[in-house]
Amino acid sequence: MVRKAFVDKDICIGCTVCSSLCPDVFTVKEDPHYQYGFKSFTNDSVDQQPIEKQVQEAIDTCPVQCISWREKKEVQESALVEP
Ligand code: SF4
Repeated sequence: MVRKAFVDKDICIGCTVCSSLCPDVFTVKEDPHYQYGFKSFTNDSVDQQPIEKQVQEAIDTCPVQCISWREKKEVQESALVEP
């Protein structure tokens, strides 16, 4: 199973810890569609297996625990994570 990181944007506080730990996977950016400066994420299309340890560190470090592993297909179909 190919896994990808899933970020629940409804819970994310935009602290940028994940993008600092693993910038190849997590991008935190300003999103004009959200009020109050909330952030949104993009997940790249690169296979995350080689950097799995960094992703796991981001999951373990996220202060609101809104990152989790999901099956790649499930993440791509999610409305919560942009392609
Ligand atoms: S570490 Fe968690 S709360 Fe912080 S920006 Fe990343 S997903 Fe959002």
